[in-house]
Amino acid sequence: SRYFTISEYPEGLPERSLFQLETQELPELKEGEVRIRNQWLSVDPYMRGRMSGVKTYVEPFALNKPLEGGALGEVIESRHQTLKQGDRVVHMGGWRDVAQLNGDQVQSLPDIDVPPQAFLGVLGMPGMTAWAGLTLVAELKSSDTVLISAASGAVGSLAAQLAYQKGCTVIGSAGSQEKREWLEAHGIKAINHHQSAEEIKSALSEVAPQGIDVYYENVGGPMLEAALDAMNDFGRIAVCGMISRYNEAAPSAGPANISLVLTKRLRMQGFIVHEWVKGHEQTFYQQVGPLVADGRIEYRETVEEGLEQTPDAFLALFEGSNQGKMLVRLD
Ligand code: NDP
Repeated sequence: SRYFTISEYPEGLPERSLFQLETQELPELKEGEVRIRNQWLSVDPYMRGRMSGVKTYVEPFALNKPLEGGALGEVIESRHQTLKQGDRVVHMGGWRDVAQLNGDQVQSLPDIDVPPQAFLGVLGMPGMTAWAGLTLVAELKSSDTVLISAASGAVGSLAAQLAYQKGCTVIGSAGSQEKREWLEAHGIKAINHHQSAEEIKSALSEVAPQGIDVYYENVGGPMLEAALDAMNDFGRIAVCGMISRYNEAAPSAGPANISLVLTKRLRMQGFIVHEWVKGHEQTFYQQVGPLVADGRIEYRETVEEGLEQTPDAFLALFEGSNQGKMLVRLD
């Protein structure tokens, strides 16, 4: 098996040289285990948090051990009761070409007619995050005006389309002209979040003079400050991510206008997908699966080729060079 490790916890934006490609002979399968040849690896912004050496809602990555992450592959050997050779599964043994795991740690693919890698994106963890954040955390109503940051990304692009199809007025932020054009082609008013808070505020007052009822937060920084300014009384903010902060070596000042949470009586709720989606997985697949399968929900992928590209694919998330879900395809 070939896999990536890190030997120290980086400060700031990681260098490519942080990631070491190692090789290891896998031991014989134990009772209950499966060996999986990975075909697709997922890289995700939250992985930066696991490189910080600090336990948050999840343990940090162990140093000099295979990194972990979402992956999809085919069972090539099995000593598990129900999993057999040829089965396609998703699991957390990513950042490597061959994974060996207990069969209880892998999941078979739901029966939905989509390309398999969709189960790492729009019908996987990021998709569940979008759906749970909007419906369960923000309790979205069709009369809401919704603002979504990083709206063309894996999570954001599903959140934006779900909100639009519910009948909401949707504003999405994205970092490039191409991404904003994609949003506008899907009925979403687009703004740029790579600007000062003042500039974002004025962009928001133009596209949403009626104010914002729900803010689906993915980026933090000036975007959050501008969103607070635009929120209506009793608005809800679902805090999904704050990617602009993940590479900060030292914490920067929070939004200057945070007291608006009080004066506007806002509800601001951070959430982690698996805690909210637990017990709702079938509802998610039933609601979103058909929309993806018949093309009513569109999703995009940026695909890097080959295990060696995994660190570059991961780092590209922080440059915004991905359109939709960032994936690595293995041969
Ligand atoms: P995306 O596909 O959205 O990729 C990340 C995007 O973030 C980039 O394409 C870029 O878009 C934007 N970005 C990168 N750096 C910055 C920056 N400094 N300031 C502003 N924007 C930046 O990733 P995901 O859809 O996988 O994740 C989106 C968010 O959701 C992340 O914050 C992630 O941590 C969070 N998340 C949270 C989960 C939870 O359970 N709470 C689960 C899954 C994801 P652009 O070019 O538009 O700037």
